Amino acid sequence: MGSQKELVPDFQFPEKYHTSQELNSDLMKLCDRYSDLISKHELGKSTNGKDIWGFIVHSDQRNLKKKPASLIIGCHHGRECITSEAVLYCLEYILEKYSEVNQIRNWIEKSVSIWIPMLNPDGHDIVIRKNGNQVDLNRNYTFNWGLVPGCSHDPYSQIYCGPSQLSEIESQLINQMKIIDDLFHKFKNIKSSLDMHSGAEIILYPWGYTREPAPDDALFKELCRQMEQKAVELQVEPFPSQPAVDLYPTSGTYIDHVYHFYNCISFVAEIYRGRWAGDIWEFFNPPAEKYNAVCLSFL
Ligand SMILES: [Zn+2]
Repeated sequence: MGSQKELVPDFQFPEKYHTSQELNSDLMKLCDRYSDLISKHELGKSTNGKDIWGFIVHSDQRNLKKKPASLIIGCHHGRECITSEAVLYCLEYILEKYSEVNQIRNWIEKSVSIWIPMLNPDGHDIVIRKNGNQVDLNRNYTFNWGLVPGCSHDPYSQIYCGPSQLSEIESQLINQMKIIDDLFHKFKNIKSSLDMHSGAEIILYPWGYTREPAPDDALFKELCRQMEQKAVELQVEPFPSQPAVDLYPTSGTYIDHVYHFYNCISFVAEIYRGRWAGDIWEFFNPPAEKYNAVCLSFL
């Protein structure tokens, strides 16, 4: 990515894109409109004091604990702004279609989904990868934290893992998951998770730190096969899939962490790459005319 220009300091978000505040405001409106299907939970504040929100989609508050849950996270990396947009788009879509599309209604009734549209608002609003402390949040988790070459101990590196494991308020939020403690007694019902990124078009699954296959390698491959099949049915180009390490080695990442500690079937979805990008923005974020198609590909 060395050829792409850095953004100017007074960068304005292009058409269709939201600042963290605008995104939260749209999400609040969604919660008001569909209060019987979605609830909002303030998870905490970012390094620079911005709100981080989580949302739970469910059809019946009373049975939350009994149902399998999935967790979807956008914007671990701040400049991958399209990931938060895709979460908003998808939430609007499923809530709007709940009463008319059987498949969506079944999914909402049989499971619980937890959405964190923007984990890194500090990085998002100035379009940088790292958080307010210049740490790569997706190298800051406990499992294999600090293992080189999957990260760097140089604070100037884009993959700086931080001074210690879970040093960052945003990764602590995920690890402690107060919301999960409250509602699900610590992660035990969260069967699957999707961590959204951009900068490639691919689905990744554990491990990121070793070429040894994960214990559930066959299950990961089967689920990827089903995702491909679904894409073909919907007439969209399926993304290829592979263990994360095959893209490049990583350590202290979210997917390895929750898979190792909570046995959570976790994927990274890299949903967009600007092939002819002139600057950092264009590399990670589609232009307005491709915005809907990229958001839909995530659905
Ligand atoms: Zn990323």
